Amino acid sequence: MKAPIRPLKAPVGLLGGTFDPIHIGHLRPAIEARDALRLEEIRLIPNHIPPHRAHPLCSSEQRLAMVKLAAAENRGFVVDERELKRDTPSWTIDTLIELRNELPDTPLCFLMGMDSLLSLASWHRWQELLDYAHLVVSSRPGWQPDYPAEMADLLARHQTTRVQALHQRLAGHIWLADNQPVALSATRLRALLEAGQDVRYLLPESVAHYIDQQGLYRATGQ
Ligand code: ATP
Repeated sequence: MKAPIRPLKAPVGLLGGTFDPIHIGHLRPAIEARDALRLEEIRLIPNHIPPHRAHPLCSSEQRLAMVKLAAAENRGFVVDERELKRDTPSWTIDTLIELRNELPDTPLCFLMGMDSLLSLASWHRWQELLDYAHLVVSSRPGWQPDYPAEMADLLARHQTTRVQALHQRLAGHIWLADNQPVALSATRLRALLEAGQDVRYLLPESVAHYIDQQGLYRATGQ
């Protein structure tokens, strides 16, 4: 006799990043994915950065505090601290395997920008990512969808344009999002902050306030 098929829960979105700092280029595509794909939740997963590589003025605690502020004002957004709690860099594949074990009936949608998809073949065990999650790829100004052969092949085998497909399987599809492109990077934002320029509307007000209070990203001597 066949085992009964368990109904799947609503999919959860996962967004990993350095979030140094978190900005609208992270948040807008995630909000649009939440709504377009009917995601139950968006988990923001700040990456561990080795201390010698971290921005000298911004600690993991401060990146986490900013991610928490951003999550607090967005419906369904939560913060997952697991990668920060390790003192070694985590591979995405390891985080996905852990989450799959914790959420056996929940489709996982790993969100990324087009820049990340284009460099996916350099990720550790990248061919296995789709065994554990769907990939939801947002467009990002500056990165055209000119796919290297192995990505074109991956898309040919895994792309879907049906929202329902992401609800009906735990993993294995790629969704190319038709999101409003946001031309912003944390690098650009840090440069603006260092130059003492006004960054209003580029990140949540609460985060801008925190950066100001903590004196983050300022040019030395400012
Ligand atoms: P940095 O400039 O410091 O490299 P970043 O702005 O690219 O940072 P990350 O924290 O490295 O931000 O990115 C985390 C994830 O968010 C990645 O998958 C990246 O592709 C995506 N992302 C970041 N900015 C954008 C954007 N403007 N549009 C779409 N996706 C984005």
